[in-house]
Amino acid sequence: ERLYRVREWGAGFFGVSENGDLQVTARPDDFSEAVSIPEIIAGIQARGLDMPVLLRIENLLDTQITLLNESFLQAMKKLAYRGSYLGAYPIKVNQQQQVVEAVTRHGRRYHHGLEAGSKAELIAALGMHNDPEAVLVCNGYKDEEFVDLALHAVQLGFQCVLVVEMPNELPLIIERSKALGVKPILGVRAKLSSQATGQWAESGGDRSIFGLNATQIIEVIDRLGEANMLDCLQLLHYHLGSQIPNIREIRAGVAEASRIYAGLTAEGAGMRYLDLGGGLAVDYDGTRTSLSSSRNYSVHEYCADVIEGVMTVLDEQGVDHPTIITESGRALVAYYSVLLLNVVDAARFEPEPLPEALPEDTNIHIRHLHETMLALTRDNVQESFNDALYYRDEVRQAFNQGIISFRERALGENVFWLTVRTIAALTRNLPSLPLELEGLARTLSDIYYCNFSVFQSLPDAWAIHQLFPVMPVHRLDEEPAREGSLADITCDCDGKIDRFIEGAGVNRTMALHALKPLEEYYLGVFLVGAYQETLGDLHNLFGDTNVVTVRILENGKYDFVGELEGDTVEDVLSYVEYDTKALLTRFRETAEASVRKGLITPAQRREILQAYRNGLHGYTYLER
Ligand code: PLP
Repeated sequence: ERLYRVREWGAGFFGVSENGDLQVTARPDDFSEAVSIPEIIAGIQARGLDMPVLLRIENLLDTQITLLNESFLQAMKKLAYRGSYLGAYPIKVNQQQQVVEAVTRHGRRYHHGLEAGSKAELIAALGMHNDPEAVLVCNGYKDEEFVDLALHAVQLGFQCVLVVEMPNELPLIIERSKALGVKPILGVRAKLSSQATGQWAESGGDRSIFGLNATQIIEVIDRLGEANMLDCLQLLHYHLGSQIPNIREIRAGVAEASRIYAGLTAEGAGMRYLDLGGGLAVDYDGTRTSLSSSRNYSVHEYCADVIEGVMTVLDEQGVDHPTIITESGRALVAYYSVLLLNVVDAARFEPEPLPEALPEDTNIHIRHLHETMLALTRDNVQESFNDALYYRDEVRQAFNQGIISFRERALGENVFWLTVRTIAALTRNLPSLPLELEGLARTLSDIYYCNFSVFQSLPDAWAIHQLFPVMPVHRLDEEPAREGSLADITCDCDGKIDRFIEGAGVNRTMALHALKPLEEYYLGVFLVGAYQETLGDLHNLFGDTNVVTVRILENGKYDFVGELEGDTVEDVLSYVEYDTKALLTRFRETAEASVRKGLITPAQRREILQAYRNGLHGYTYLER
């Protein structure tokens, strides 16, 4: 538990049982009725689904929705806030139907609504939600069709807010509202001058591509006034960026936005809602710091600071307290999904043991290398490392010049790696090391080949080096004796995970257990519920993984409540516009031609065609 820092990043949901299984609980920090993840894996496999599997644990989503809503309600009560809170889950964070459905189901008791950033998302939202007390916030750039749909939603009784993101959207909205005879609910998205740090900081600030500056907002007010529609402007929206690690930046944004809100009220707009957008961060590395993969605040603190910040400004200005909306996505759904994968193989960089004495006729450079190795001590590591590199290059040159054989070269390289391994062992835990020697342990670490695609399942790990907690889900009562990084099964040198959480730093390897013959070894990648599923791509034609949803019950048991088979080869081929029937026809012709040439028998042809068909209908990942 300590080695993998489970208690730090797991938000109380994950822990290790006495028999070394990773377990998950529906009630944070209470493991009395926790469920073993290896047991869930056994259940998944018994149902005929192969790894990799994206495991969704519904209770974790429920808990996060409750935590956010209750924290706002508590903060409001404690500070005597006179408005209310409404959540709006941004569909973009995870658009999968199962996820949006689960968010609306678990969020219903709090009237947790949705945020749509495009026409397609609005169409999804309208089909998923029908709570007249919840909000449906429409951000993103809009055309006539988008505007009309939102206006029809208002006709149906939805609290559907059209947020003006660009100056030229307003004339269209005014025109369509009049044409359809609908009184719209309007919002404006402000560009704040407050800017946040972190990976997605550029969504906010003066230079952000979204939103209106002060002059443009005043123009909106004037235009609405001219159209006699100023009372329709009811919402102020801003978004500083996702994953804002520092609470001070959140507070600065709230203070500035509250001033603008008061300004809009003073201008005569019908203000009712203040929408803070997303940004509530997830502590991926468990450090509780303002590092980009963490956050230096709790959800309770976030809510209290938001309410206090709004009240401070609005009370001073004598403005009524608005309904606070947040579009938190990451914080709601990140915990709920775990990527489970099996390790297929491991490469060890382990030199072979040397014979007692080198053969009589051993090349002089190999002899020198050997002597360097024998003379190694902690005091001469750097000098020995330099010598080893020099003699290794001499050995290679001798081979290139035809002086030594391939077998002799292999002996030379083996002595070199033995030397490097000894240096790494001698320098382990030394407080300061010459830069050249620092990466040695990593050069010698194992590579564990895992059955998944980084590009499909963890795109942010590849694209922006986001850190996700990774750990074995069993054998946690055994000391992990190996160090390694992870490679996926795409044929891409970027298809790897070699950045792991380690306190406030990043480790290039992680502790792993040695593989056992005929025994599967399973790893979990955690907190992957936000953004990863739909940003993933089809690199090497690895498709969507199988998805399994479980619900933990009161008595420590659990139910399988959902199962989605991943893409087949046929599916992914059709995504890239292949006609699989035509492929099969052409392959059949190729096989027939081989029969004619006498390369195969008709019976072999049947077998080969069957293998091709099975492949088309099979999983894109390695199957058991
Ligand atoms: N709202 C808007 C307008 C966004 O662009 C985003 C994502 O960046 C979000 C909400 C969700 O943010 P988060 O996942 O940080 O809660």
